[in-house]
Amino acid sequence: MPEATVVARSLTYRVGDATLVAGVDFEATHGELVAVIGPNGAGKSTLLNLLAGNLRPTEGHVLLDGVDTSDALPGDLALLRSMLTQREPIDIPYTAAQVVQIGRFPHRRDAAAVAEAMESTDTTQFAARIYATLSGGEQTRVSLARVLAQDTPIVFLDEPTTALDVAHQERVMREAVRVSRQHRAVVVVLHDLNSAAIHADRIVLMNQGAVVAGGLPSDVLQQDLLTTVYAQPMVVVDHPFRDCPLVLTADRSPRT
Ligand code: ADP
Ligand code: MG
Repeated sequence: MPEATVVARSLTYRVGDATLVAGVDFEATHGELVAVIGPNGAGKSTLLNLLAGNLRPTEGHVLLDGVDTSDALPGDLALLRSMLTQREPIDIPYTAAQVVQIGRFPHRRDAAAVAEAMESTDTTQFAARIYATLSGGEQTRVSLARVLAQDTPIVFLDEPTTALDVAHQERVMREAVRVSRQHRAVVVVLHDLNSAAIHADRIVLMNQGAVVAGGLPSDVLQQDLLTTVYAQPMVVVDHPFRDCPLVLTADRSPRT
């Protein structure tokens, strides 16, 4: 077994009276893509920010390649992990290429890493465009290029595919898998359960700040569990040509 790259123990995060993350244990190893799923407000983004060291846990701790995030210097964290956040307000009129170059600041800036990251996210054609004028999905792809350009051993992606058309969703997920296969650890928050089913090595299902299930896609994507957690009738069938589940909503009432 390779060394666990992301290890979190008994992670709890409270704000005032609210417990956003409650006693979560989490691991992700080199070479692995782990998807985090769960309803809106389940605590997925808070968990990712705790794992990435952007938030300090109220209780528990996070180790990234053995380094406790609470003790790490920002510069050390920047070399260990990169993160695509859900919202990246960039008000300064940077071009797309400049946004990607920001990712290289902890390293020496080199054009090759930037060009490669833009190529792999299909954003080369936006290089000279002002980032703020790109569509939501285009901005996400440029932000993803910024994350990829950092070449960190650990990559956190918060809903990288939510604003994308199906072709770019697939492209981004294939890219995320490719990155994980470079002996890196990729943790990605997804809303698309089928994308998680197809691409993730493991899935972690969150609800109300807690992890309610974790394991292989076929273990976690159970229709009764999903129906309960999402408060939405769901059905799970076999994918027609892949060795993974296919998840569908299952309301039986006629269209009105
Ligand atoms: P998810 O990413 O799964 O949709 P989040 O981790 O963003 O959920 O948020 C979890 C819950 O915590 C949500 O109900 C959200 O409204 C709440 N929340 C997030 N940040 C704060 C905060 N600073 N203070 C209080 N509640 C917060
Ligand atoms: Mg979120």
